[in-house]
Amino acid sequence: NRKPFIAGNWKMFKTGSEAIKTAEELVKLVADVTDTEVMIAPPFTALSAVSDVVKETNVSLGAQNFFWENEGAYTGEISSAMLLSAGCKYVIIGHSERRQFFGETDETVNKKIKTAISSKLLPIFCIGESEKERISKDTFSILDKQVSKGLKGLFSDELQHLVIAYEPVWAIGTGKTATREQAQEVHLFLRSLIEKKFGNLLAKSLRILYGGSVKPDNIAELMAMPDVDGALVGGASLNAETFGKIVHF
Ligand code: 13P
Repeated sequence: NRKPFIAGNWKMFKTGSEAIKTAEELVKLVADVTDTEVMIAPPFTALSAVSDVVKETNVSLGAQNFFWENEGAYTGEISSAMLLSAGCKYVIIGHSERRQFFGETDETVNKKIKTAISSKLLPIFCIGESEKERISKDTFSILDKQVSKGLKGLFSDELQHLVIAYEPVWAIGTGKTATREQAQEVHLFLRSLIEKKFGNLLAKSLRILYGGSVKPDNIAELMAMPDVDGALVGGASLNAETFGKIVHF
C-alpha cells in the first residue's frame, strides 16, 4: 500500500529559465506514470515558475529547505506559508549538505519538521551516516539518534505523511551507491525503529526513500528491495531524460 515515490533534489542548480525548460521536458516524459509519485525540488528562485509548469500534472513540487518561524526579521529565510503559496507540497528537511555546510542540527531539524506538519507541508526527513561512522560500525546508533531527536515530541497521528530519506553521506555525489543489501538492511532497521516508537500502523505505511548516487541503471534493483519505497535523486535528476528513466524504473 506504499506508493513508490521518486523525488528529484536539484540542489543549487538551474536558473529560472533552465528550471522551466527541464520541468517542461519532464512533465511530458512522465505523463504516462500513474503508479509512482514524482516530485522535483528546484531552488527557491525557480519555485513559482516551475509550479506553473507542473500545475495539474502528475509531478509535484517540493522545496529544499525553509525556516521554522512563520514570519519576522529573519533576513534571507523562507517560511512555510511562502512555500505553500509558491505551489509546494513537500519540503526536504535536514539534508546532509545543510547539516554539513549550514549548521543544521537534529534540534533545528526537529523544529522544521514540527512547523512543516502544522502548516501542512509534507516533510521529507533526511538522515544518514558518514563514511567514518559506517566504518566504525556506528551506522545504526547514529540513525537511531537522528530519528529520535528529529521526531522528538511528535505523535504517530501527526506523522501520517512523513517521508524519510535515508542518504548515506558517503554515497552522495560520489558515484558510490549503497548496495541494495546495504540499503535494505538500513531501511528495515528504520522501519522497525519507527514501529518501536510510533507503532505498527505508521511503520507499515511510512515511505522510506534511498538517496545517494541513484542512476537509471541502479534504480530497479534498489526498488526491488521490500523496504525501499523510492529514491531521492540529486545529480541524475537534473536532466529530464535521465530522471524520466529513473521514474520509469
Ligand atoms: P546524488 O544523487 O547526486 O548522489 O545526491 C543525492 C542527494 O543528496 C539527494 O538529496
